Amino acid sequence: MAMYCGGYILALVSRYDLAEADIAAKLPGQPAFRARQIWDAMYRGLADPAGLSSLPLSLRGEIASSADFGPGLEEVRRLEDDGGSTVKWLWRLKDGAVIETVLMLYPRRATVCVSSQAGCAMACRFCATGQAGFLRHLSRGEIVEQVVRAASYAKDHSAQRLSNVVFMGMGEPLANYRSTSAAAGTISAELGISPRRITISTVGIVPGIRRLISEAKPYTLAISLHSLDNDTRTELIPQNRIYGIDAIAEAAKDWTKATGRRVSLEWACMKGVNDRPEDAGQLARFARELRGHINLIPLNPTPGWPATGSSPQEVAGFAQRLLDAGASVTVRDNRGTSIAGACGQLAGAGQAEGTACSATTPMA
Ligand code: SAH
Repeated sequence: MAMYCGGYILALVSRYDLAEADIAAKLPGQPAFRARQIWDAMYRGLADPAGLSSLPLSLRGEIASSADFGPGLEEVRRLEDDGGSTVKWLWRLKDGAVIETVLMLYPRRATVCVSSQAGCAMACRFCATGQAGFLRHLSRGEIVEQVVRAASYAKDHSAQRLSNVVFMGMGEPLANYRSTSAAAGTISAELGISPRRITISTVGIVPGIRRLISEAKPYTLAISLHSLDNDTRTELIPQNRIYGIDAIAEAAKDWTKATGRRVSLEWACMKGVNDRPEDAGQLARFARELRGHINLIPLNPTPGWPATGSSPQEVAGFAQRLLDAGASVTVRDNRGTSIAGACGQLAGAGQAEGTACSATTPMA
């Protein structure tokens, strides 16, 4: 059983929480190269080191029976959509919390959308996870394991190499800074995914953005903007009360100055709320000034929020206005809607198991 204290995880909850030195320490009497062998197996496509045939049988047995080498994620359910090219997992963690992971297979890339927390304390009104509340932070290992499991599925089912990781599942990654930054580091160093293909998406936690700047790694930073009017944005994203639009814009400029990477600006199009011509004008100006790239997506329906998403035609019209005003824009495709695996529809901890709880999240 994992132990938690003030949101910090005190015990190992996934074999991916082990550092290479921890592996050696847990196998006293074994030659030094065993730890490297096991480490390599864990990160080179063999999720369970107990299945490593080059290890002596007795050691395989020892690993198989040790909780420290156990997985952190138990598959509760796996759902497929879009003809099998979108896969959603519902995982149970060691303490019973439930999280979700979504894999999207495209012809030339495979992207996994990972959760960074069980639930979320940001309480964004239009987001199913925000509606369900916060349970706890995930550990580095629990985040990394989602990527490993999705990568092995992509390899086995469509012979594809996982190419992109987005921190856009459940949770606010920059409110769980320690695990997010450690997991992103492991994903690039051990799983060979370039930091540029790792996207960290935030409501705009400015101190977290500044900490990320100080790491000087070329991750992709996505900011969930959705409105450029502070009152409207606060209504949608309560956290805007603390870090408003001006503070976010300043941090985003500093990010680009420090890393040379342009910021992605996320905009979920809501009918009559943020898809009017004046919204397009304001957003285009804002994006141009920041040299940011706009990602549009229609708002997905969630049980607890009445606003409806703009129609595909309205999104296309909005995108055209942005382009005409000189902004750089992508309209994101909407994967996984029928398995509730689309943006903002992940709510496993609350709806699947009835375990949601509300609490404020400490900044890790
Ligand atoms: N907490 C982080 C990451 C998780 S949410 C963040 O807010 O960025 C990932 C993205 O999905 C965010 O841009 C979020 O605003 C968006 N989103 C949430 N609910 C949505 C919904 N119902 N429809 C469309 N996008 C949604």
